[in-house]
Amino acid sequence: MEKMEVLRQYFGFSSFREGQQTLIDAVLAGRDVLGVMPTGGGKSLCYELPALLLPGLTLVISPLKALQLDQVESLLNKGIRAAVLNSDLSAAEHRDVLEDMTEHGGLLYLAPEQLRSPTVAEALQSCPILTRIAVDEAHTLPQAKDDFRKAYGKVGSFIHSLPHRPQVIALTATATRNDVSRIRKSLGIPNAERFRTPLRRDNLHLCIKNIDNSKIRKGKRKPSTENVLFQSVERELSKWDEDGAVIIYCPTVKLVKRLCKWLKARDYPVGKYHGKMKHAKRKPAQQAFMRGKKPIMIATNAFGLGIDKPDVRLVIHAGLPLSMDGYVQEIGRAGRDGKKSRCVLFYTKSDFDRNKRTLSQSGGRKAVARRLKRLNALHGLVDSKKCLWRVIEKYFGEKPQKKCEKCCRCRQKSV
Ligand code: ADP
Ligand code: MG
Repeated sequence: MEKMEVLRQYFGFSSFREGQQTLIDAVLAGRDVLGVMPTGGGKSLCYELPALLLPGLTLVISPLKALQLDQVESLLNKGIRAAVLNSDLSAAEHRDVLEDMTEHGGLLYLAPEQLRSPTVAEALQSCPILTRIAVDEAHTLPQAKDDFRKAYGKVGSFIHSLPHRPQVIALTATATRNDVSRIRKSLGIPNAERFRTPLRRDNLHLCIKNIDNSKIRKGKRKPSTENVLFQSVERELSKWDEDGAVIIYCPTVKLVKRLCKWLKARDYPVGKYHGKMKHAKRKPAQQAFMRGKKPIMIATNAFGLGIDKPDVRLVIHAGLPLSMDGYVQEIGRAGRDGKKSRCVLFYTKSDFDRNKRTLSQSGGRKAVARRLKRLNALHGLVDSKKCLWRVIEKYFGEKPQKKCEKCCRCRQKSV
């Protein structure tokens, strides 16, 4: 079968998106690739489609179990061989999946932590048909040493331990030049061909507001910062025409809870999601959002990775995120359908101090310094008088395009 035919027959798409075709061609030619493609750009297809045209087993390493299950379910519905290997399986199921996939091939999804199990590592090391490894959300690699997913940092040595070096496909939505070289180093793919699809999304209208001296007042007393923040959020929500969905990112779990209560009291259809929530509660929260029952999701950065909701019309940051990288990942969840969507960030100067404290809580000096650099990039963004997209492009080492004419900075100048 030919690739266009596979695209149509299995995936039901009539054409490739920007960047997909060249990347897939390189994969089909057997080269290592490192793809940087914005959220919603269609990265999954870049390893799913080749897995149908090339023989063997493709390992897909990605961070979240729930997402792996969704992806595999969707592949199985299309008649594509795929499975998840995780610790929720019983010992017998785990063994069966491993045996079946290493013998017959297909797409096997797992989190990097699975590779630490000797049974898994050995089965894969002695699997003659392990031909490709796709590392999704590869921005986790340069941050692995600094953050909680240490297992990501070990993927490189696992690849190195294999008797036949498989083809490697690394994919992410956000990576600076420095990150790109760290991903190469971490995975041991110095010669991987790099593909970069422009980061900018013209349908996302960005806006950043400092609310330190906000004019919003209730009664005569000067309102608390939190009150100003909540009222700013509400004003933004009142402009939303209730079409599609909204995500409101908060920097802390506490703020998620307080804002949720505040908006609920005002009868907004809100749900919440954060890292301290029990797993049993996360799924229904996510489902209520996906199905439009509770179209406003208030969440920490624990929410959203790989969420495939096309009609998020508004992403609000109720406070400064922890890094430029996180900010860009999060606004990327708006407007995946290509329609106009707004992304508004509210912050106060004190947000920087709070974030600094959070980022300095764990890890060595170097790790903390690297995190602070990603935070400081946000300083540059919020203080800049220039087109916000151009500032973002510069940070990620892209050649800045012309002014977007739609962000709050571009508009300010035109009036
Ligand atoms: P990413 O991982 O880059 O954020 P996904 O791989 O999850 O993006 O794809 C986002 C959405 O785009 C999915 O719903 C997917 O089915 C769809 N998609 C991917 N490629 C195409 C294409 N060529 N044509 C139409 N839709 C596509
Ligand atoms: Mg993805």
